[in-house]
Amino acid sequence: MEFETLAHYLERLSGISGRLEMTDIVTELLNKASDDLPLVVSYVQGKPFPPWDRRELGIAEKTMVKAIAKATGYTEDNVEKLIAKTGDTGIAAQELFDKKVQTTLGYRKLDLDEIAAEFGKLASMSGSGSADRKIRHTMDLLNNASALETKYLARLLLSEMRLGVGEGIMRDAIAKAFNVDPVLTERAYSMVNDYGEVASIARDKGERGLRAIGIRLFRPLRPMLAQMVHSTQEAIDNKCTVFEKKFDGMRAQVHVKDGKVRVFTRRLDDVTTQFPDIVAAVEKGVKCENCIIEGEAVAYREGNPLPFQRLSRRIKRKYDIDEMVKSIPIKLFLFDCMYLNGENLLLTSLESRRKSLESIVAEHGALILSPQLVTSNAAEADVFYKAALDEGHEGVMCKNLEAEYKPGSRVGYMYKLKPVSESLDLVIVGAEWGEGRRTKWLGSFLLACRDPDTNELLEIGRMGTGLKDEQLQYLTDLLKPDILEQKGKSVRLRPNLVVEVGYQEMQKSPTYASGYALRFPKLIRMREDRGIDECDTVDRVDDLYARFVKKK
Ligand code: AMP
Repeated sequence: MEFETLAHYLERLSGISGRLEMTDIVTELLNKASDDLPLVVSYVQGKPFPPWDRRELGIAEKTMVKAIAKATGYTEDNVEKLIAKTGDTGIAAQELFDKKVQTTLGYRKLDLDEIAAEFGKLASMSGSGSADRKIRHTMDLLNNASALETKYLARLLLSEMRLGVGEGIMRDAIAKAFNVDPVLTERAYSMVNDYGEVASIARDKGERGLRAIGIRLFRPLRPMLAQMVHSTQEAIDNKCTVFEKKFDGMRAQVHVKDGKVRVFTRRLDDVTTQFPDIVAAVEKGVKCENCIIEGEAVAYREGNPLPFQRLSRRIKRKYDIDEMVKSIPIKLFLFDCMYLNGENLLLTSLESRRKSLESIVAEHGALILSPQLVTSNAAEADVFYKAALDEGHEGVMCKNLEAEYKPGSRVGYMYKLKPVSESLDLVIVGAEWGEGRRTKWLGSFLLACRDPDTNELLEIGRMGTGLKDEQLQYLTDLLKPDILEQKGKSVRLRPNLVVEVGYQEMQKSPTYASGYALRFPKLIRMREDRGIDECDTVDRVDDLYARFVKKK
């Protein structure tokens, strides 16, 4: 498919917001694709590479500004001003390329395979001089595009499609385009974590093909998620009779194959390099040909669990890993086994999966089987819950002993029980550079929740006061590479970081897209382990607001 054809579809999508209409357009687009179907799927979602692919384009807003300026003959200042005015690099690129006077020699239309090859080249550029090479390469790409194409090429290069084609729409479009069951489509997705591949299989092999998709070692599965209960009795009423401590750490999915170990987070990021100690703990204590096991990695010091915050620093760390291993050592509490010696255990019961886990694990100081209480007596479970809280854990997990493992879904097979919290997990989507002593730090963080239907992020307030210098420094370091646009002091950020936020009050407000405003939001902790699609939804906010009004 030519990129131009894709761009026309993207333009049609940008004009609508209704879920059904969007699904119809994506369906039509998928039917138009050839062998490049996986690329179409990926690009519509604004992803230059499939989710399991670790490559990154490494194109910052600045690079884009320079490339657009060079390609169009406008000054960088002009480009920046237009981006600030339109609030969108894509639209700014389109406007400037539309007005561009000089024609480019050797213009040729690019198709998706060529774009993919160019993306590969961009991702491989590193080291000295790579920034300049990236600018030149981006410029060449843009020069081979029409004005409309540059709008979407620019957005794609910045991994920011902004069309709201979320996972739900993609699932439904694949099901519709290739006449397959959406439930089977979603199941296949949770196995391979790539709708591009799922779409190809659905088209070429139909439902039989989707059913045949199995677990792949070294390709992370989407983890099963927990629902919430408010009492141990409620858990028992929901057939959960296994209670485990809810460790406050990082969920780790560990794959073992041919003596090699790889570690994935719940966002499916490969963190093997950052956690050589998990690798070593598994190498020492897990005996099998191959397996996929799951647990919670918790930071410990002198026998005491450290808050998640300490561990989270290790997740994105690229340097001084050995030092981090020493200063923030971990213990891995194992609780599940989804694959063992070539056998897929997803459809077997938790009871039998746990037995499989026990059969391959020799516990040692850093590798522990999560202790379980099995009971259908709420009073007994309450004692366990209280003890867990006293020991400093977050609460308990309540699990159904007979239930299968359902990747990627929040089915009622596992519940979390913790003291009632009104806090929200929100995404940081913008910020402002500080003043005076704080000019070097970002502050006044703009927070957003999620529309569950479109995955659009809806702003809900600004978190400003009460952050310590150390926290500002940390957040600035973390967020700086995500700056997409700067207008005066205020920056728009690529949504990447989830934070848990407390607040004093919640009001209805037209100021923010969510329709709500949080008063005095306060950072409780960073949740680097969370994907942005895991932040709280506007539905939860509706719910909290209703309760809040009732209490007043
Ligand atoms: P939440 O993050 O609040 O949705 O709670 C679910 C998370 O608790 C899981 O994703 C795990 O990372 C974590 N967790 C901690 N201890 C356990 C446990 N014993 N069993 C399962 N999940 C656990």
